Amino acid sequence: MKYIRITMSVILVLVFGYILFGELLMPANSPRNGDICDILPGDGWVEVKADGSEVPFEVPGVTDGEITLETVLPENMHRDADVLCFRGMDMDIYIDGELRETVKTEDYPFFGDRSAECYVMASVYPEDAGKTLTVRYEYNSGRVYEVYIGTRLGILAYLFRLYGAELFVGLSILLLGFICYIASVVYKYIHKQYLEMEHLALGAVLGACWVLSNSIFRQLYTRNISVMSDIPFLMVMIIPIPFLIFINSLQKGRYRRAIEVANALEILNFVVCIGLFIPGIVPLTGTFISSALCASVSIVVMTVTLILDLKKHLIYPYRYVAFGFVVLAIAASVQMISYQLEHNGVFSGLFMAFGLFVFLIFAMIHTIKQLIGIRLEANEMMHISKVKDDFLANMSHEIRTPLNGILGMDEMILRDARDSRIRRYALDIKSAGNTLLAIINDILDLSKIESGRFEMIPTDYGVASLLNDVLNLTRPRALKKDLAYNYSISGDIPSVLHGDEIRIKQIMMNIINNAIKYTQEGHVDIDVSVAQSDSPDIVMLTVKVSDTGIGIREEDRDKLFRSFQRLDEKKNRNIEGTGLGLHITDRLTRMMGGHIEFESEYGKGSTFTVFIPQTVVNFEPIGDFGRAVSDSVKNIDVPETSLYAPQARVLAVDDNDMNLEVIEGLLRDTHIKLDTVMSGQECIEKVRGCKYDCILLDQMMPVMNGEMTLREMQNEEILHGTPVIALTADAIVGAREGYISKGFTDYLSKPVKYDRLEQVLKRYIPEDKQLPPPDAADLPVVLIWGNDSESLRREKERLDGIYKCVCVVGSKAMEKYLSKHNADAVMHIEK
Ligand code: ADP
Repeated sequence: MKYIRITMSVILVLVFGYILFGELLMPANSPRNGDICDILPGDGWVEVKADGSEVPFEVPGVTDGEITLETVLPENMHRDADVLCFRGMDMDIYIDGELRETVKTEDYPFFGDRSAECYVMASVYPEDAGKTLTVRYEYNSGRVYEVYIGTRLGILAYLFRLYGAELFVGLSILLLGFICYIASVVYKYIHKQYLEMEHLALGAVLGACWVLSNSIFRQLYTRNISVMSDIPFLMVMIIPIPFLIFINSLQKGRYRRAIEVANALEILNFVVCIGLFIPGIVPLTGTFISSALCASVSIVVMTVTLILDLKKHLIYPYRYVAFGFVVLAIAASVQMISYQLEHNGVFSGLFMAFGLFVFLIFAMIHTIKQLIGIRLEANEMMHISKVKDDFLANMSHEIRTPLNGILGMDEMILRDARDSRIRRYALDIKSAGNTLLAIINDILDLSKIESGRFEMIPTDYGVASLLNDVLNLTRPRALKKDLAYNYSISGDIPSVLHGDEIRIKQIMMNIINNAIKYTQEGHVDIDVSVAQSDSPDIVMLTVKVSDTGIGIREEDRDKLFRSFQRLDEKKNRNIEGTGLGLHITDRLTRMMGGHIEFESEYGKGSTFTVFIPQTVVNFEPIGDFGRAVSDSVKNIDVPETSLYAPQARVLAVDDNDMNLEVIEGLLRDTHIKLDTVMSGQECIEKVRGCKYDCILLDQMMPVMNGEMTLREMQNEEILHGTPVIALTADAIVGAREGYISKGFTDYLSKPVKYDRLEQVLKRYIPEDKQLPPPDAADLPVVLIWGNDSESLRREKERLDGIYKCVCVVGSKAMEKYLSKHNADAVMHIEK
């Protein structure tokens, strides 16, 4: 490939060298037939006055109004010459007193009474040689131009040689500007990101319009020269605006005020000039001075901002544009001056066109660098985010595995220990372990949210049971701190709503727990209500939590919802927290289309109000909350018979023997025949030889992980329908769906909790192998009732094993139970 590239370069040098050689060094030999353009002698003209008198007139020349000029056509006209070419507005051309050509344009302008200068061709024949040529110019702009004689092609070619460059440059800018504009608009649409190039390209397109509408060749591509000749004046008024916007965004709005003033001036100038032009008070030519002045002000403003940035060393990021701008500003100034001073009056926009071209090229370099920067940044971000995700997934596994062991063992101590001191220690371990678990979950949630992979899982849920859970889970903590815990649940909340129940619970728990955490004395008040929304089947669930706690300082308000941001660190030193809770709460609320408001007085307390729109499934109001709770949690504490399956065979696979020990301990009372193995390979061997009722299979194992083991067992067809439950420390949201799609029957998150394990085994172990526990019938039945389910739970925990405890909330539930069952004793628990 290298040699091909070298050969191609040599070929290109040869080809272009040949072109240059031919053009520069070879004799001219292209046929020039028909390429004839002579200029009628400028000193052979006379001005014919109204009274018929004649005075000599030098062409080109200056006149103060309408003028009639006469000359004699040369005797030795070129035999191919067939036209005379004049520049002007309205005119009549006579040869020997006979009208040969006439141009009248006053009917064509849309606004104003003037037309525009253009080239007018009149036919001439060989027999016209030596005859008198008379030209009557009307409405001319004060100038009489050279008159050409030759062929149409020759005259056009001559004009092209004089003024053609601006046409090429103008067309190139138009094309380039147009492509850049479309590209930046498409980019904005696709990537939702503004590219400064958009306004630059717009400015370039306007500049190109100015050059092209001003070109002497406009009569070749326009239908109405009058309107086309107005365009340059309009462009001068508006071109600076996109450039000002462009420079402003490059400078990140550092000089916004000055740029806005310059922009406002441009717009004002436009409005005033157009306001004077349309009713015919001032022609557009008359607006040029003020437009040029305004454009100069814009150029000065932009130049000053560039100088300021240069001084502050801020120009580096857009140095190419700054250089291009300097070239453009010089070109534009020269252009405006030359418009006023041009000696022959034929206006060429070459300077401006050149300046624009240079500017556009440099701005393109800037944009390409900007795009490359965006790409690199995106790649880097993707890389960082992937590394972060992997790190978090690993960390979650690494931390949760030993924690699984600790909490599992602790659960066994709690089940076995009767000594109250040991139970207290075990409860402390459980609480600290659960806090650690909550922190890991917070970090994982946050990483999911930030990487955009967090999914809401909406379901229909009963509001009463959700509120009951939240209140029951938060109240003990408040009571432990001797805080008054008041709640008011509005009776008109619809009983069934549709939304992500788990996340709503998480939001409410976080706000309520914070109120409890940051309040040392006084009370925490919770008020839950609904407000109507614009749509009839959507309500705004409103949770207001007030406390009499430490409050939040005015200057900390902005930091409140930022991640890892804890306020008042000194005072809160002893309060557990990571500063993640409110950030996640806020993000979750916004993901559900809601928002959080808060008020706080430092030292007095805070009030957080969460608003979450929820779709109504059942409009029936929950009414009296106490009743609604007992309805929704009917029989909640009436225990189902616990799992007892001595004929069932379960296989547990985990490379960590402590985890296996935990499972063994947890299942001891179930009398299930449990086999344990420590690798995928051993698992397969066991399954080959024995039919299990359920397999608990760890995910992360060396050599053969859970997924590979499952696949192997499926391939060997040794499972025969045995449910395989994935055991994993990977707590990432959406994991369950992932495992099920891989062929697992269900999923158990580590650390394994007994309730969840029992629930899963009850679901998958065949019913005929699940027997009533032998001793359950032997124990005396105690019915415990009261209004506070937390106290009931505590009491049940205390008595379980000694009695068969049945708990019910409320006296009605108690009566209902007794009407259907017998109890050896009834116990009433006050709060
Ligand atoms: P943390 O885990 O630290 O509680 P959060 O994100 O939940 O993190 O809260 C961020 C910070 O906001 C807390 O550290 C605390 O300083 C402040 N804060 C939150 N809720 C309250 C409240 N009810 N009263 C006073 N300060 C609060």
